[in-house]
Amino acid sequence: EAEVALVGRSNVGKSTLMRELTGHSFDTGGKPGVTREPNHYDWAPEDFVITDLPGFGFMSGVDEDLREEIKTEIVHYLEAYADNILVAVLVVDGKSVIDIIDRHSGPDEIPYDVEMFHFLRELDIPTVVAVNKMDKVDDEDERLNELCDRLGLYPPWKQWQEVIAPISAKKGQLEPLHEAVREHLHEQNRDDLF
Ligand code: GDP
Repeated sequence: EAEVALVGRSNVGKSTLMRELTGHSFDTGGKPGVTREPNHYDWAPEDFVITDLPGFGFMSGVDEDLREEIKTEIVHYLEAYADNILVAVLVVDGKSVIDIIDRHSGPDEIPYDVEMFHFLRELDIPTVVAVNKMDKVDDEDERLNELCDRLGLYPPWKQWQEVIAPISAKKGQLEPLHEAVREHLHEQNRDDLF
């Protein structure tokens, strides 16, 4: 069955988004890193499954080895199912993503989010970055342009609306994400699914 995969750091609002998309309830605010297995759910009323991959990156109370292990599992999963994944949704927290990326950028360090974005593209998986918590961001355009810059996409962000989807999962404002996913499915001639 056709699949949309959801990846993102802990605490970006992945569970909240999953709940909005699927109507299932998810354990939000639970202990990060506990969801270890990819979980599959129907993205009603669309005709595909959405896979929630474990949160990666910094998780308080989770040691370095386990963190690396989780990341390796995510990478293996994506490699194994790349052909089946129609779209990947990389969820980031619009409020903190630039600070986090900049803090982890250096000569020997690539921030997780940036690394994941490039990895997905290397696997030829069409990727949408769902920039969540936009209800907490004052200057939307500036923030999204900065994000484009960090991801190696030439600003302004408005020309990347298939890639950059500003949303607020908590407020149920998800239209840019639906639009971007729809666009990717359309390009793959899978309009039947959405
Ligand atoms: P997860 O660890 O990625 O699954 O994150 P959760 O879904 O548990 O959300 C982490 C925190 O962010 C919770 O306190 C949510 O209420 C909050 N949150 C999620 N989405 C939004 C949003 O769109 N706006 C705001 N302001 N907070 C959000």
